[in-house]
Amino acid sequence: MTIQSFIPPRRILMGPGPSDISPQVLQALSRPTVGHLDPLFISMMDELKQLLKYAFQTENEFTIAVSAPGSAGMEACFVNLVEPGDKVIVCRNGVFGERMRENVIRAGGVAVLVDDEWGKPVSTAKVEQAIKENPDAKILAFVHAETSTGALSDAQALGQLAKQHGMLTIVDAVTSLGGVPLKVDEWQLDAVYAGSQKCLSCVPGLAPVTFSPSAIEKIQARTTPIQSWFLDQSLVLGYWSGEGKRSYHHTAPVNSLYALHESLVLLQNEGLENAWQRHQRMHEKLRDGLEKLGFEFVVEMPYRLPQLNAIYIPQGIDEAQVRAHLLETYNLEIGAGLGVLAGKTWRIGLMGYGARAENVSLCLKALEDAFV
Ligand SMILES: *Cc1c(COP(=O)(O)O)cnc(C)c1O
Repeated sequence: MTIQSFIPPRRILMGPGPSDISPQVLQALSRPTVGHLDPLFISMMDELKQLLKYAFQTENEFTIAVSAPGSAGMEACFVNLVEPGDKVIVCRNGVFGERMRENVIRAGGVAVLVDDEWGKPVSTAKVEQAIKENPDAKILAFVHAETSTGALSDAQALGQLAKQHGMLTIVDAVTSLGGVPLKVDEWQLDAVYAGSQKCLSCVPGLAPVTFSPSAIEKIQARTTPIQSWFLDQSLVLGYWSGEGKRSYHHTAPVNSLYALHESLVLLQNEGLENAWQRHQRMHEKLRDGLEKLGFEFVVEMPYRLPQLNAIYIPQGIDEAQVRAHLLETYNLEIGAGLGVLAGKTWRIGLMGYGARAENVSLCLKALEDAFV
């Protein structure tokens, strides 16, 4: 038997990511591959850095895309910033906070946990208390937008708290970047990582990251080598900068970077604030429809992420069957619950290009049909 080409159907992606991709971005992906040290590609990478700085709202010189998914962005922040013995306060209010703890430990650090209930934001009061009890803690790590629950934490307040106590911050902005306000410089955040496939609506597999001058200083002052060769950002920097004489580190994912460039051009053309507002508007439209259908949200209104709508599944429903029905009948994907919310919730994403009125209408119609 000869295996044929794989031709996927066109799904509407309204889960926790990957999100719907604009045809313009998919087109960019199929442009001719050039050498990754080609002068034209290098100038594209310079533009990409500019565009990423805009998306992150930062002037940080070190703002690049790691050639791997969001999880590698996470790992890049932890292995570079955390030295063996470093104490890190880790906020845990969902799946991704737990992964941060795992990263601290694997980097040889000591994790001090601040736990909050799933679906609640990180409590700044608890963090302040933890800092007081651990004056030797060097880093505060938290998730801005918890995709497992749909809760938004106050990154500005947490950033300020860290600075007051001379600490650095590591911030997971995988789902927040491009979907809700994130102001890296104004909020004094130090190491921030994101993902290409959530509100940037690009192909999966890239992790935008930005490091503040203080974060770079901490990396440069290390007395132990970074255990990961690939994620050692001092080596990667030689590839992303180096004024005209770039050195080879790894082969950049050339076409994926075209796609990221294109998705960021779309974001720039729309305007960051307009993109935030569009996510909010689409969320309100979806929320009104879901409430009419009798669904209840997991997260209280003030902390609700517009781009990730976690709702409780009505009693007595075979949740996997409903999702399979939506996929088969409507080509529509919504997300299942994660961790302690598995089987109890659905997660409806309105991310990037997916945050459109037609998607909201389709999702509401599909859910209504599934229940009538
Ligand atoms: C999706 C996600 C990640 C992981 O990104 P991958 O690209 O799947 O590796 C990390 N943190 C948060 C908050 C996410 O939503």
